[in-house]
Amino acid sequence: MTDVLTDTRSRIITTDPQDIAVVGGGMAGMLAALVLARDGHTVTVYERDDTDLPETADEAFEMWDRRGAAHARQSHALLARLRRFLRERAPDVLEALLEQGATELSIERILPPDITDREPRPGDEDLVVLCCRRLTIEWVLRRAVTAEPTITWRGGVGVAGLIADGTDIRGLRLEDGSTVTADLVVAAGGRNAMVMDWIAELADVAPPLEERTEAGIVYLSRFYRLRDGQELPVLTKTGSGGDLGYLAFSGFYGDNRTFSITFGVPTVDRELMGLRDEAAWEAAIRTLTPLEPWTTDGLADPISGVESMARLHNRIRRFVVDGAPVATGLVVIGDALTATNPWYGKGCSLAGIAAEALSNALLAHGRDRTAVAHAMDHAVRTELEPHFDLSCRQDADRIKLHTARHEGTEPDAMAVATHDFIMNGLLPATRVDADVFRAFFRSFNMLDAPSQLFADPKVLAAVGAAHATQHERPPLPDLGPPREELLAVISAATER
Ligand SMILES: Cc1cc2nc3c(=O)[nH]c(=O)nc-3n(C[C@H](O)[C@H](O)[C@H](O)COP(=O)(O)OP(=O)(O)OC[C@H]3O[C@@H](n4cnc5c(N)ncnc54)[C@H](O)[C@@H]3O)c2cc1C
Repeated sequence: MTDVLTDTRSRIITTDPQDIAVVGGGMAGMLAALVLARDGHTVTVYERDDTDLPETADEAFEMWDRRGAAHARQSHALLARLRRFLRERAPDVLEALLEQGATELSIERILPPDITDREPRPGDEDLVVLCCRRLTIEWVLRRAVTAEPTITWRGGVGVAGLIADGTDIRGLRLEDGSTVTADLVVAAGGRNAMVMDWIAELADVAPPLEERTEAGIVYLSRFYRLRDGQELPVLTKTGSGGDLGYLAFSGFYGDNRTFSITFGVPTVDRELMGLRDEAAWEAAIRTLTPLEPWTTDGLADPISGVESMARLHNRIRRFVVDGAPVATGLVVIGDALTATNPWYGKGCSLAGIAAEALSNALLAHGRDRTAVAHAMDHAVRTELEPHFDLSCRQDADRIKLHTARHEGTEPDAMAVATHDFIMNGLLPATRVDADVFRAFFRSFNMLDAPSQLFADPKVLAAVGAAHATQHERPPLPDLGPPREELLAVISAATER
């Protein structure tokens, strides 16, 4: 453990401040820069996008050029795990976010209406989802990061590679041909980061490991703003989303009287991509029962087109191979480290977990670069990988079911059994039991490790009972039309 001091806000700060270069000023880069600067380090953020900070969060949505983060105008839900990170490590950011119109969905607002036991429980203070547009949190974070005295923001500066002594990283090569030195490089260049290529250029380097599986969906979003005098729809008994079996959909609360609607279209189903047409989109969302309160005539107007994002995958990288770091003085975080299917809303929380792990690793190991690499690897294996694994498993099962449905073949028996367990056991149990709902929601929000949910005997018993009595329950109301009917709606709207 290196020497540490405590600052006036009782936070541990380092006595051995380092000069840290962060590549990428997206979610992960900014979260890390903020906590590291507040730990006492000096941080420089290199962000290739060269656009000034807009005046307001609304302007950020309307005009901020964030071509480096092409998904910035897609629906984002900020899970309770990220909110807890902000509350503990950057409460001013959480406060600023709320001041800028973000809203908090607490457990009282989410608990299914059929649950009569509405007594609060310890831990409820953590079970809060943050609702805002992705560009609103980026805008708030950018203001906090650029106001921090020990952070230098170098906008419009792209990084081209690493400078190193063997596999010991000593700084960065910039796209303008210049070089900069740093005690530590944090690579946070996002899902298309070039960090694997940069590492491959090092002399005598062992390649990092990469595991990758398909997410199996294309993500489509459209944003809306409420008209004057209208209010955001409340969460109804049917929630704000669902899965039709052939198509998933969800409504997302935004900030400043905005909301969005998102579809997860199976990649195997090209015909459903007709939803990208705005007329088809508007007609389709009006066929979905849970979205009725979100699609009432006169409620809201679109403020974006239909944004689409394909080539989505789950991917994890490991930078300690056969017990040895592939490089020292380099830490990879955010989507460059672990990317998961966006449908589960994990990405920004995973970025926060990695930023927190890095802060802890530097406080514990200071300039012992090998120990820092091992500490980060430990965090990846224990704190990030379980969420990645779950995402892969869920997607693999869903892809099998979608493919079989689409091709008219026999579905995989295990995938069918898992789906049955979730639809007829787990989900019904969460609708009637306050504790089971909380356990499920904690797990979904990454407050607990995925394995904890079914380690809870109460959850297991409730799920088993719900599954055993499935035929005694009335069938759930239809969420929307069968596929062929929706396709007819899409083509009628497109031809109009
Ligand atoms: C469609 C979609 C929906 C999503 N929905 C959710 C959600 O609901 N909830 C959630 O938590 N997460 C969601 N995510 C995931 C989340 O957006 C990402 O996990 C998050 O953006 C990762 O942050 P990052 O900083 O690693 O990458 P980014 O935010 O993409 O930032 C990377 C930054 O690095 C910069 N950069 C890249 N290369 C260089 C270079 N060489 N030099 C300088 N700068 C560089 C880029 O310009 C960019 O600003 C979603 C993702 C997608 C694709």
